Amino acid sequence: MSQNAVIVCTWGEDQDGLPVGAEEVLHIGRGLAADLGTDLAWLVLGALPSAAPETAGRYGVANLLQVEDAKLESPQPDALVAALAAVAGERSPRALLFHQTQASRAVAPRVAGRLGDAVVMNGVSADLSGECIVVTASAYGGDTRVVYEVSGRCPVIAFIANAVVPEPGDGAAVAAEALSVDLTGVEERVKIVEPARFEGPRLDDAEIIVSGGRGLGSSDNYKLIEQLAAALGGLPGASRPLVDDGWVDSSQQVGLTGRITRPNLYVAIGISGASQHMAGCSAAKTLVAINRDAEAAIFQYAKYGIVGDALELLPELIRAAGAR
Ligand SMILES: Cc1cc2nc3c(=O)[nH]c(=O)nc-3n(C[C@H](O)[C@H](O)[C@H](O)COP(=O)(O)OP(=O)(O)OC[C@H]3O[C@@H](n4cnc5c(N)ncnc54)[C@H](O)[C@@H]3O)c2cc1C
Repeated sequence: MSQNAVIVCTWGEDQDGLPVGAEEVLHIGRGLAADLGTDLAWLVLGALPSAAPETAGRYGVANLLQVEDAKLESPQPDALVAALAAVAGERSPRALLFHQTQASRAVAPRVAGRLGDAVVMNGVSADLSGECIVVTASAYGGDTRVVYEVSGRCPVIAFIANAVVPEPGDGAAVAAEALSVDLTGVEERVKIVEPARFEGPRLDDAEIIVSGGRGLGSSDNYKLIEQLAAALGGLPGASRPLVDDGWVDSSQQVGLTGRITRPNLYVAIGISGASQHMAGCSAAKTLVAINRDAEAAIFQYAKYGIVGDALELLPELIRAAGAR
């Protein structure tokens, strides 16, 4: 393996035999490696995801690297940081790329710290300008883009969900190459007592989402959102106040601090259109808004809008959707 590769770093296996977001980051990594005239490598920490060899081939990965160690079986930040820093020290990559998750937020900046290099979080794209990697990142709740020129030797970059639509190509499966790192003495400083479990379909993958906001007035009315979502064959989502007030589970929150979605259809009901909410749904192909305030910001984003009372309109919409 060349000493100068762009390395996509993943762990865990969540979705269709792959870590969530792996294909998106491989897509970005493939483009960046081509711009830099170097190889793309994929470093898997812990168990090899079942679909990794085929997926590596489809994204032009030159080297599929795997570090297996008992401390990476249920990977925790301290072991991940130690393993990543060890591999980076040995292989001198040109960039380390991550999908931004709760877990990688706790890892990527620390790896950059160990390497003495720059870190950019909330990335949406990475290009080349002269010798510099130029990262565009989302900022201020998703309504602003910031462009960083990163001059360091090996920037660490985390990309938010749905930053790109991955485009796999053709290519033969890539065999994994085992790397060994010494994690002796690495102890996790934070112990997980009981991991949170989430089962069922995910908003991130939904084609249709119907979300309710504070305009619904009461938690009882949220069942109308669930009924409309079911009638349309979609999933129910929510704005953050509904999560804060305990009306719905946090897994249903759409937005900057919730799920970043990219459905074909997003129906926002009783939602004002704050930038932090829009960060999670503005990539929808079609956005429909219902709000009783004709001046509500959500109408700036909506392809179709209805100015009216959600509680009057919802039963009609549920009936019409059910009759399809
Ligand atoms: C750091 C940070 C992160 C955040 N992250 C998120 C996030 O991830 N997701 C998120 O959603 N928010 C997030 N927020 C909160 C965000 O700023 C807004 O406060 C929130 O999105 C507002 O929710 P809402 O639109 O449901 O409520 P409101 O802003 O109160 O809007 C309610 C809307 O309902 C309309 N309405 C009222 N009654 C009716 C009716 N009967 N029929 C139709 N319409 C009606 C009103 O006209 C209004 O437009 C974040 C904020 C911060 C500071």
